[in-house]
Amino acid sequence: MRWIDAGALAVVAAGVMAGGWAQTSGPPAMPVPPPPVQVQPRFVVALDAAHGGSDTGARFGQDILEKDITLALSVHLRSLLHARGIEVVTTRESDIDVPLLNRAETANHAQAAACLVLHATPTGSGIHLFTSSLNPAPSARLLPWDTAQAPYITQSLKLESEIDTALAHSEIPVTLGRASVQPMDHLTCPEVAVEMAPLVGGHVSHPRDITDAAYQKQVVESLAAALEQWRSDWKQP
Ligand SMILES: [Zn+2]
Repeated sequence: MRWIDAGALAVVAAGVMAGGWAQTSGPPAMPVPPPPVQVQPRFVVALDAAHGGSDTGARFGQDILEKDITLALSVHLRSLLHARGIEVVTTRESDIDVPLLNRAETANHAQAAACLVLHATPTGSGIHLFTSSLNPAPSARLLPWDTAQAPYITQSLKLESEIDTALAHSEIPVTLGRASVQPMDHLTCPEVAVEMAPLVGGHVSHPRDITDAAYQKQVVESLAAALEQWRSDWKQP
């Protein structure tokens, strides 16, 4: 069975924080505060543009492929997050095949504070948000690969709620669901799959195609706003 060592960084951090007692001769040794250690919490967002290369994903008409839409969303969102001073790692930056294992390893290695798995679909309307269908589980140093997400479910639901709020603020219809979209169950971070659908249906005043630049911009700006809010609430674990 494959395992993920979730505690490796915590052990290193504990080592850094140990010590801080001055040894002097003469008067009794007094504890002195440790020198200020500049440990800046790293707030990193991982973006996974689903599909790519030979895996085209869904088709939208003749020429438009899901893999291209997810990459465009990832690139756009990355630049908005950078503009907000948020560090980003991505699983791909071009039209290439990326195995699911590598996608999960990229996000886990970054010890991301938020992971978004980006998909697109011709069915439905607005944005579909998914969190893993695993049951929440207590945290552990070694996490089984197939259920590595389980200790993060509560945080993932909070992140989903943050994104839901931001999209609702932009009047984009949202559908919430639980589904184990790969590689979600292997990710050791708060994670949400964001699946973009066209804006259609009787309740939509301005129907929008999935390639509509204004619609994509609205979605990506909402995601960036949600992640900025998430950063302000975030504490390093
Ligand atoms: Zn997809």
